[in-house]
Amino acid sequence: MRRSGCQTYAQIIVDILNEQVDKVFTYAVPEGMELTSGMRVLVPFGPRRVVGMVIGLTEETDVPRERLRSVLSALDDMPVVLPELMQLAAYLRTACHSTMAAALRCILPYQVRSGRVRPLSRLAVRLTQEAETALGRCARSKKQQELIERIAPWPEGVRIGHIEMEGALQAARALEKKGLAEVFPMEVRRTPYANLEGELDAYALTDAQQAAVARIRDSLDGEMQSFLLHGVTGSGKTEVYLHAVRECLLRGKGAILLVPEISLTPQMVGWFRARFGDHAAVLHSGLSQGEKYDEWRRVREGEARVVIGARSAVFAPVESLGLIILDEEHEQTYQSETHPCYDAREVARERCRLQRATLVLGSATPSIDTYARTLRGHNVLLEMRQRVAGRPLPEVEIVDMRQEIILGNRSMFSRALHAAIEETLLAGQQVVLFHNRRGHSSFVKCRACGYTVHCPHCDVTMTYHAVDDTLKCHYCGAEMALPRACPQCASPYIRKFGVGTQQVEEKLKQEFPAVTVVRMDIDTTKGKDEMVKLLTSFRKGEAQVLIGTQMIAKGHDFPNVTLVGVIAADMTLNLPDYRSEERTFQLLTQVEGRAGRGVHPGRVIVQTYEPEHYAIAMAATQDYRAFYEQEIMRRRRRLYPPYTIMMRILFSGKEASDVRAAAELMEMEINDWFTRDKRRRDQVIQVHAMEAPLGRIRDEYRYQVFIKMYAKGSEEALDYIEGAAEGAQAKAVRIEAEINPASFM
Ligand code: ADP
Ligand code: ZN
Ligand code: ZN
Repeated sequence: MRRSGCQTYAQIIVDILNEQVDKVFTYAVPEGMELTSGMRVLVPFGPRRVVGMVIGLTEETDVPRERLRSVLSALDDMPVVLPELMQLAAYLRTACHSTMAAALRCILPYQVRSGRVRPLSRLAVRLTQEAETALGRCARSKKQQELIERIAPWPEGVRIGHIEMEGALQAARALEKKGLAEVFPMEVRRTPYANLEGELDAYALTDAQQAAVARIRDSLDGEMQSFLLHGVTGSGKTEVYLHAVRECLLRGKGAILLVPEISLTPQMVGWFRARFGDHAAVLHSGLSQGEKYDEWRRVREGEARVVIGARSAVFAPVESLGLIILDEEHEQTYQSETHPCYDAREVARERCRLQRATLVLGSATPSIDTYARTLRGHNVLLEMRQRVAGRPLPEVEIVDMRQEIILGNRSMFSRALHAAIEETLLAGQQVVLFHNRRGHSSFVKCRACGYTVHCPHCDVTMTYHAVDDTLKCHYCGAEMALPRACPQCASPYIRKFGVGTQQVEEKLKQEFPAVTVVRMDIDTTKGKDEMVKLLTSFRKGEAQVLIGTQMIAKGHDFPNVTLVGVIAADMTLNLPDYRSEERTFQLLTQVEGRAGRGVHPGRVIVQTYEPEHYAIAMAATQDYRAFYEQEIMRRRRRLYPPYTIMMRILFSGKEASDVRAAAELMEMEINDWFTRDKRRRDQVIQVHAMEAPLGRIRDEYRYQVFIKMYAKGSEEALDYIEGAAEGAQAKAVRIEAEINPASFM
């Protein structure tokens, strides 16, 4: 149906997180209201007024006039969502089975959603045409004279914020009154990057670094490509990133560097700022609301064209994006755990495709998945096999703890580690001790009857914390006093088992009474600043030993650390997860990589009860390729991803019987669907309902349906299962479907 006149209609997504309204609504745009795609508006919706997002404008509509309502007002003067990000929202909606409203919320940070975004202009000042002739006649203050001198060379105007002079605005206003100057909103212009040279030339790049930069440069100039930069720890990947970013800026394009949240230390941000000055913006969860908003604005307005940030910075509103880099691509933090559950790696890949940008994934220990894809030709492989400046990889010694016990050493430190700590401390160098379990002891057990203290609300053992002499649940935070006698048999032989970081610290201090220690785990780093404080103090040499969980494994550069000790390398090996081997290898390789990054060579001692395990042995030689070959063979043989897809539908609720019944019903339905034709029967490997390994958390019972199928051709089945899980939602039982879930617990 054609409409007369120049009436326009806006296609609008309303900001309501409900499947039923996950569609495009049409509204009339009142005369005189200027709207473009990507702006937020206020619209009537039923009896309410809600916020909506304009996703398109048309001249005609099929909606009958009597049903058509009008936009009430515009909330922005400029689009807050760039066209490419609008497309990315549509991608998120499909890929994460979310609504468009939820996808848009993901893209637009809360701080921005709650504020108003103004156009791309800033107040500027320039001298008027008349100024030259009038200057002789007009009296003016010292400030005003100073301002005139500063702006005289720039006839097109200077942004007031860029004039380094106090009271510049007042002076400009005063000159304006006298007709000498003009204050006006000037469109923000891109600043040229002429001053970037020099700042980057701190090092001569190694051949491998040069080669990598050259390949990325070619991609920036030509057809967009994606890369996997696989470089051993200490091979200088950061320097490659910085050069790639600079190349990108020199071509007039913007760049995003994603890092795991934990790497966003002031040190990293400092380098970035030093290299790119005001062109760099930082986006991470440690910023205040105001800071986040300001940084986002600087990016949106084109003032900052390089963004460094954690996962969600993949949505940063960088226009004409040329490059996305993902450092430590194997990190699990790139997977969002809140809805929509996106994987930043996948979003980055899609965004690069949409904006014709180059993608660089970097790691010393790429995920098996990414490496397998790279070998299949999805990424170009760039390798850096050596450390910079001829520094050797650390020398790794594996100590068999079974032998220690046989020889009568009951300490948690082997003789080798004890001696090495002693030597290192004597030489005035620093030690890192890695132990991936926090707390003091992981469980408390009665020696007489075998009773173990469990959380009253969850199916996990309570962890002993020596600091406040309490038992804590690491899942729900419940606390209780340490029982003095067994609650079951009243025997006094109740003992602590399982070593945590607190106990490592305690025992270290027993064996080396004068030692100074910094401990880093969730318990000592509750505030954002705590972590930074501890790291800085250790880097400055204020403590001799750093003890920590996986928090200390990645990214940090401690030049004076020459000894790394791993207390129990097999600890992460025996978790019920097909990725345990991969995670153990990655963790060990990264931890070992902390040694010998300065001028002194490094040494690593790995204690384990399974010295022959390939993940441990190959991490010791830092041989990623050998590990990959072995691991991928195991995955193929055992039918694990990437050959298959594992899916789990988690059911949780207060009534165990409801939860169980819902899971069993779902198991039947899915089984039924899979047996309906031969193709489906060939697709599926297993459908199985069972209690989750963690059968109860926070008093909620947990059941799961576990599904395994061949990866090839699985789209239809995945769609069906996700639909079925969605459809089965009930009041008493919560249902969550996850593909290759981050945890199987
Ligand atoms: P990676 O991330 O690959 O483990 P880094 O980027 O942290 O390695 O670099 C390791 C160390 O080497 C850093 O201290 C860095 O400043 C230094 N470095 C990087 N490139 C060079 C180079 N070309 N010559 C000398 N030192 C370098
Ligand atoms: Zn007992
Ligand atoms: Zn609990």
